[in-house]
This record gives sequence, structure tokens and C-alpha cells, in this order.
Amino acid sequence: MPVIETDILIVGGGIAGSALACALRHDGYNIVVVEQRKMPLDTARGDHLQPCNVELLARWGVLDKFLERGAGKRVGHEYRTAEGEVLLSATYDELPIPYPYFLVFNHDLIAELFLELAEENPNFLRLQPVAARKFEVSDDGIQSLTVDLPTGEKATIKPRLVVGADGTNSQVRAAMKFTAMEHQYIHPLVALFGPRPAGLKPQDRLFRYSSKSGIVMVQQRQSQPQPRMDDQIKVTLPIGAEGIAFWKNSTKEQRAEVLGHRANLLCEFDSDIAGFYPVKMIHSDEYARGNVVLIGDAAHSVHPARGQGLNMGIASLSKLIESLPSPSGIANAEKLKRNLLLYQAFQKPLFDRVIAQNHEAALAMESTAEAGVAEVVRQLQRQCQKIHQLPELRKQHLLEASGYPFGVPLSAWVGLPLKSLPYEMDLQA
Ligand SMILES: Cc1cc2nc3c(=O)[nH]c(=O)nc-3n(C[C@H](O)[C@H](O)[C@H](O)COP(=O)(O)OP(=O)(O)OC[C@H]3O[C@@H](n4cnc5c(N)ncnc54)[C@H](O)[C@@H]3O)c2cc1C
Repeated sequence: MPVIETDILIVGGGIAGSALACALRHDGYNIVVVEQRKMPLDTARGDHLQPCNVELLARWGVLDKFLERGAGKRVGHEYRTAEGEVLLSATYDELPIPYPYFLVFNHDLIAELFLELAEENPNFLRLQPVAARKFEVSDDGIQSLTVDLPTGEKATIKPRLVVGADGTNSQVRAAMKFTAMEHQYIHPLVALFGPRPAGLKPQDRLFRYSSKSGIVMVQQRQSQPQPRMDDQIKVTLPIGAEGIAFWKNSTKEQRAEVLGHRANLLCEFDSDIAGFYPVKMIHSDEYARGNVVLIGDAAHSVHPARGQGLNMGIASLSKLIESLPSPSGIANAEKLKRNLLLYQAFQKPLFDRVIAQNHEAALAMESTAEAGVAEVVRQLQRQCQKIHQLPELRKQHLLEASGYPFGVPLSAWVGLPLKSLPYEMDLQA
């Protein structure tokens, strides 16, 4: 049986795993990505990269590639009533940040482009479709993974570092027996695609409409094969009392009627169903132990209420990469273990806060799908108007929307020496 020795084994070639392989492509590591999918990723999932992550793409030298491939820019957002009254309107160029826009690129294309760029590493191996199931686990982490190759052969991968990037139902998290905080949300989401209604302008904004019938998010979408940012939209909403059955069996006209109550200009929306999503929050109690670290949804799977899941997975990589021993030092198991714990000590408190805020937003979205939501929606609308008018709230809102933790621009916290951690930790523990 072939034995593959590698510096870094990345389990899962979704957004987080592919982004890591791409970011490290010129850093001298041997990298193996094991991905079980036979199909492309679900195109309806997260497709807007926050400004803080646009800054990261630029640092990794890949931003131009995304733009060349037709990625678009979203420069702001507007929260409106169903009738179109603007409650909150903001653009990211109000902030002193280097890339004041979200990058918009279809979900499946993001991972494919990251993996394509990862191939620039001469020591990169992509094993797909190959499922990671048989881990040999010890007190020091994962010693090996035995897989069935597409050729029918078996192979054993012996990694120095294992990165679990295998999504919400992570096998790596399960193999390491990491416990997690879990919360199942009541209302699943439905996502719809369709042509942009004529009155929906400007094109480069995200819109959130709210009314006593509930809320609906409207985002621009890159269409294929000829990318044009202005002709397709994605509409996402929590499913209320009407139930999934309604959405599954409805005609376009029936869907448009329901949507029209939430956002008047969707009253003739010519939609196709893109997908249904039951939503669960899973936050691992540990991100790292021994030679194993979790990233992306494997570590923190969140409700899409604030469009952050994919973005957290990418944003965390800057600190993780900074924490990795060099290729010549990665065989030093003690050093690797210590650095991963330092990474966890930095990243987890940041994400504890982001996830708490996200949960609050998710619960607010949930309550707009309940019966009798008029008062909830009125409160949300008043909150939007307050943010719109008060400069300090507005700035904080924009920083958080852009992905800058604690409102601190990335440039100010990436590069902090590892000893400058948010709290002291006992590394012997
Ligand atoms: C409707 C919806 C809308 C969303 N909108 C946004 C948004 O606007 N903004 C945002 O930031 N996020 C959004 N998200 C969340 C975002 O899509 C996810 O957080 C993100 O895709 C997670 O990426 P990941 O790489 O961690 O995990 P995944 O994308 O789940 O990738 C995991 C990969 O691992 C592979 N894998 C799993 N198990 C194994 C195994 N045993 N062996 C080998 N391979 C394995 C899978 O095939 C998959 O390719 C949305 C999600 C949904 C459902």
C-alpha cells in the first residue's frame, strides 16, 4: 500500500480547505487535500467575501485572478420596507479600509479557483473523490489516514499537521472527540434564483426588505457562462408558517405572491428554487489539539443571518498561517502543538463574540418567520433607522458587516506577536 508523507493534510476541499491550500501555495509545504465530492459545491451557499477577506486575497496575491474571472463587487447595503422606503443605507467606502467592497463570486467557483491556484505549489496533491474516514488517532492527534483512491488502491497518508476543513458534520472533529455547542434553528431557509426585477437598483447593493409578512434578503449573483453582475439575483428567506411543502409544490406565480408581501418589487419574480437549508449552529469547544486544527464550518457552523460562515472560515486563516511553524520546523510535534494552541487562544474568543452576535441576529430572523411578527419587524426597522442616523453605531455596524473584528482593521491585528493574546493561557494544561 502506498504511503504518502506530507507536511499538511487538509481534509475537505470546500471554501476553507481550498483557501488554505491556496494561501500556502508559495510557502514550501507539502500539502495533500482529500475531498470526497464527485460534484461541484452547492452554488447557492455563501458567495460574498467580506472586505476583510478581500484584503486577505490581495495579500495572498490572488485578488486579481478573481476579478479576471468575472467576480463582481458589492459596495454597500440597504435595508428597506416592503414598499421600498429606505431605513438604512450604507457603503463600505465610509470606512478607512483598503478594499471597500464585497467580492461576489458563485460559491462553487470560489473553491475551484482556490484549488486551481493551489496547484502552483509543486508539492500539492489533490485526492478527489476520496473520503476521509479511517483515522489513526493517538494522544498527540491524528497519526495517519487510510483512504481508498479512485484507482481502487488503498493509500496511507502520514501527516505532520491535519487540518479538519470538512464542514458541519466534520469527521475530523468526531475522530478527535471534540465536544461542541449546538443549536438547531426552527425555521429552515429557502434560496431562489431569478432575473433581477427592473426596479431593483442600484445593482451593486445587498437589500434586506422587511414587512409584517417577514423579511427577505436580495443579493446580486454572478450568472454563467457569461458573467454579468446585473441580471441575476439570489433571494433568501426563512420559511414561516407556509412550510417547506408550499415552496416545494408552488408555482412561480404562487411564490411571487408570497414574496411580493415581503418586498413589493418581487410580486412578479420569476424564480427557480435553488435549495432548502435546515440551519444548525455547531461551535466546537476546541479548535486544536495535538497536530490537529479545525477550520471553517468544521470548527464553527453558523446561521447565514449575517452572511458570515464562509467569511469566518477564510478570515481565521491569516492567524492560523502566521502560527504555523516553517516547513523545516513543522516536524517538531511539540512546537506545532504549542503554536496551534496559541492560534486557538487568539481565534476562539474572537469567534465566541462573532457567534454570539450571529445567534442574536439568527433569532431575530427566526422571529420574523413566526406568526404575528408586526411588532418584531417594527423594532428591527427602528433599529435600522437608529443605525442609519447615529455615526458611532453606523461605523460599528459597517465594520462588523465588513468583517473587522472588534471594529479593528485587519492590518492592525494581523501581525500581532503571538504573545499578545487576548488572555493568558496555561500551555501545560
Ligand atoms: C443558504 C446559505 C447561504 C449562505 N450564505 C452565506 C453568506 O452569504 N456568506 C457567508 O459567509 N456564508 C454563507 N453561508 C455559509 C457558508 O456557505 C459556509 O459557512 C461555508 O461554505 C463553509 O465552508 P467550509 O469549507 O468550512 O465547509 P464546506 O463548504 O461544507 O466544505 C466542506 C468540504 O469537505 C468535504 N468533506 C466532508 N466530509 C469529508 C470527508 N469525510 N472526506 C473528504 N471530504 C469531506 C465536503 O465534500 C466539502 O467539499 C451560507 C450557507 C447557506 C446554507
